[in-house]
Amino acid sequence: MDRHPQNDWQSIHYDPRFDEYWIAAGSARQCLFFCPWCGVPLPESKRDRWFDELEALGYPDPLFDNVPAIYRTSEWWTRCAVTEKGS
Ligand SMILES: [Zn+2]
Repeated sequence: MDRHPQNDWQSIHYDPRFDEYWIAAGSARQCLFFCPWCGVPLPESKRDRWFDELEALGYPDPLFDNVPAIYRTSEWWTRCAVTEKGS
């Protein structure tokens, strides 16, 4: 997805928290499951896991709560891979 020059004008947005690609649909987000240019499947959304982990940490409404900084970026799901590499 990142390598397509067609997306230089940012028609498709990326949310690193959920590892999701999306386009604006009115005031809502329409998630994409396949690359619109080459058709490869996009990464599986981590949205459910994001909510599960934050609720387990005591944030019942994570979209509005002041969640830890790592949960505002891709860090919360990339750090696991880093840990596994080191062990
Ligand atoms: Zn593509």
